[in-house]
Amino acid sequence: MPELTEFLAAAEAWLEAGYSRLATEERGRFRWGEGSDEVRVFQEPDPVEEADALPRIRAWRAALWDAGYAWISGPKEYGGAGLPKSYEAAFNRLTRKFEVPGDAALTVSLGMIAPTILRHADEGQKRRYLPALYRGDLIACQLFSEPGAGSDLASIESKATPDGDDWLITGQKVWTSGAHLADIGEIICQTSPGPRHHNLTAFLVDMHAPGVMVRPLRQMTGGAAFNEVFLDGARVPGDARLDAVGEGWRVALTTLSHERSAMGHSSFGGAGILSTERLMELVRHAGNAHDPVVRRNFGELITQLRVARYAQEVMAERARAGQPPGPEIALNKLALSANMAALAGFVAGVLGPKLIADTGEWGTYAWTSVVLGAPGYRLGGGSDEVLKNMIAERVLGLPRPS
Ligand SMILES: Cc1cc2nc3c(=O)[nH]c(=O)nc-3n(C[C@H](O)[C@H](O)[C@H](O)COP(=O)(O)OP(=O)(O)OC[C@H]3O[C@@H](n4cnc5c(N)ncnc54)[C@H](O)[C@@H]3O)c2cc1C
Repeated sequence: MPELTEFLAAAEAWLEAGYSRLATEERGRFRWGEGSDEVRVFQEPDPVEEADALPRIRAWRAALWDAGYAWISGPKEYGGAGLPKSYEAAFNRLTRKFEVPGDAALTVSLGMIAPTILRHADEGQKRRYLPALYRGDLIACQLFSEPGAGSDLASIESKATPDGDDWLITGQKVWTSGAHLADIGEIICQTSPGPRHHNLTAFLVDMHAPGVMVRPLRQMTGGAAFNEVFLDGARVPGDARLDAVGEGWRVALTTLSHERSAMGHSSFGGAGILSTERLMELVRHAGNAHDPVVRRNFGELITQLRVARYAQEVMAERARAGQPPGPEIALNKLALSANMAALAGFVAGVLGPKLIADTGEWGTYAWTSVVLGAPGYRLGGGSDEVLKNMIAERVLGLPRPS
């Protein structure tokens, strides 16, 4: 195994050869009035720009794959580099110094579906899907929620029925992030009438197959990053079933724990919406930096953000040591949704009417998408109430209500 310094020197030379280095002052620095003032809780790109960006993202992943950097901590037999997670984290930090297409469009693919495949798929499936996902040839989405099954996911009603060696899937999924970009979807379906939790099976469905229809859902932020997905007898070959028949609940739990981990780790640092620098400039430019109430609220908000960041670092350290996320990962996600709500309230108080009047003034009206998007954080990856139940029962060991 190469020393970390040696590995990073080679990686830096590779990045240098193919990508422009960002000037030091451009990296993560926030300057009021410069560049775009877009601030968002969730990625909600303009559909045309999103479609334009996709080939660049795929080309970046292919280049990473060919150079051995696409899955640094992955097992060698599936195309990974077999190096520790700390090498991967160091490489990711290094890429921030260069102008490279980000992996944000691949959060579900690489942060949730690929780890699920690694844990639950058979050998042939791992060899078929994992290289394709990490190389960016395939993009995956998560087809779990249904109109009548969100928090109570075990009530899923989409059905998969056997047809020879294949399965035919019929049902409706909802809130599917990125389904419009996806090539495959991890879907949980009912494969028998009961009992609950043992009647579900997971599959990888081809999103381009006949019988799969994706329809965008527009949110109150104006974006349309989610979709409804209708399945009408969509055919799934038998070798696209993940794990055994009746094991869908276990497969879903793996994906959900990775989802909470991915959500809990997002949005901090740099010039993101939780950056202290950005918020401080906002307060200054709104002209209320000397208001004692604003100063107190600002202090409280920044304290909460810092505490959440330290808690995340503890869990990230565990992840680097190879421990899969446990139920306590829900704490990170709860902290983040509470912080998002606190941030939205703080910004609304600081900006007042400037928040809702689109006067063209830089860095003011743009915050509406955060104020309107923040409540979504309470739901995605499991609602706050459901996560609190989970912490009570599975972390603290409190009795379940009878
Ligand atoms: C940003 C975002 C991205 C998402 N992406 C995806 C995706 O890619 N794929 C996917 O499958 N789904 C996705 N979802 C859906 C998400 O998983 C669901 O919204 C979530 O599970 C809640 O389900 P629901 O919306 O049906 O609410 P419901 O389950 O109807 O809940 C409504 C309210 O009742 C409360 N409640 C329900 N049960 C209990 C209980 N037992 N105790 C206490 N309170 C309870 C909830 O906390 C909530 O406040 C996404 C959602 C969001 C907001």
